[in-house]
Amino acid sequence: MSVDANICTDCGACRKVCPGLNDIEYNTSMMAKAYAGWSNDDTQRQGSASGGVFAALASYVLNCGGVVYGAAIDGFEIKHVRIDDVADLHLLQNSKYQHSITAGIYKLVRQDLKAGKTVLFSGLGCQVVALYAFLHKQKYDHLFTVDTICGGLSSMLPMISLAKSGKYKGIISFRDKINGWRAKGFAYSLKLKGADGTIKNLGNQNLALKCFSAKITKRSSCLNCRFVGFYRQSDLTIGDFWGDTDFAAQHSKGVSSVIVHSERMFKLLHSANLTVNEVEIEKVARGNPNLYYGNFKGVRRLISRHLAFFFLRNELYRYVTPLVDYESRLSTEMQLYGMLSQRKIEKAFADQIKLLNK
Ligand SMILES: Cc1cc2nc3c(=O)[nH]c(=O)nc-3n(C[C@H](O)[C@H](O)[C@H](O)COP(=O)(O)OP(=O)(O)OC[C@H]3O[C@@H](n4cnc5c(N)ncnc54)[C@H](O)[C@@H]3O)c2cc1C
Repeated sequence: MSVDANICTDCGACRKVCPGLNDIEYNTSMMAKAYAGWSNDDTQRQGSASGGVFAALASYVLNCGGVVYGAAIDGFEIKHVRIDDVADLHLLQNSKYQHSITAGIYKLVRQDLKAGKTVLFSGLGCQVVALYAFLHKQKYDHLFTVDTICGGLSSMLPMISLAKSGKYKGIISFRDKINGWRAKGFAYSLKLKGADGTIKNLGNQNLALKCFSAKITKRSSCLNCRFVGFYRQSDLTIGDFWGDTDFAAQHSKGVSSVIVHSERMFKLLHSANLTVNEVEIEKVARGNPNLYYGNFKGVRRLISRHLAFFFLRNELYRYVTPLVDYESRLSTEMQLYGMLSQRKIEKAFADQIKLLNK
């Protein structure tokens, strides 16, 4: 992010409000209590990425006359939308592993809040922080925010290239639970609408998903995320409960990791139609460094993104794939990432545990 010096009047307002420019400490919630969670509604849970905790909360808010904001698929793009009817909830469910456009959405949230409506806003940590910045930190008792654990988003080039190929009409999903959910070794698959109207399953051997997992193709704004940590600005953080061994009977239907940051969210969770079991936050964090670590600068410096993009542009998939293959032991990128980051990740983990024990 940068300021255009030609039109800047040097008033400093942008630096104060913009989460990308200011130096505010964001990991400052009152609490970080962890749970394993899932929706009690199996149909709803099946349509969600992991346990369907978001959908259960959203249903409760909508049934009480509130409104819900979240990311929906629009052709080859992902956009934040507002819904006020449970029938539209399916649009927001499930994870879309691509940047969600939020243009104009924060104004709508403010309008709803001013009209006295209960609002549930879901997005990534940066988007929740951006909403609070937009609202100038004005507190609304009827605003609830949910962010997801996130390892950063990647370049749009692979998806743009799929769109330009003319073979497809748009995105259907980035993952689903047709083969169930698993706490370890879960397989993602990108499904697109074919130009002929059929569903095209590109599986996980495609650049859009490979680049999502890769570090070198991350967006510059995601190279050193300031919104990670056990403590967050949101009322709730949700993720996959990767590595869980305590709730094996629930694994095929999906288990979410749930980290509560406010008393108000406790009440909402207990009113919604879902199950939560308290767990030690260390258990969630052990399987999911993305919860508290978001620094990918080192590996990006060693392998230039320009080089990666050169390959992507030229569609030399077979050269790029081993470079960025998250699952492959031979992945150059993952080896470098491990070499450069292992100690830093362990230190970040220890720092978060210290914060917990304060
Ligand atoms: C980009 C991204 C990266 C993620 N990385 C991790 C990770 O590293 N580890 C982990 O444990 N979990 C990660 N998650 C979260 C995980 O995929 C599930 O969302 C989470 O397990 C909650 O599942 P659920 O079944 O409760 O809700 P879901 O039905 O999955 O819904 C969750 C909410 O996520 C929001 N959402 C979906 N896509 C986007 C998007 N592109 N931008 C903003 N908001 C979005 C929707 O608004 C929806 O309300 C990530 C999610 C996203 C979107």
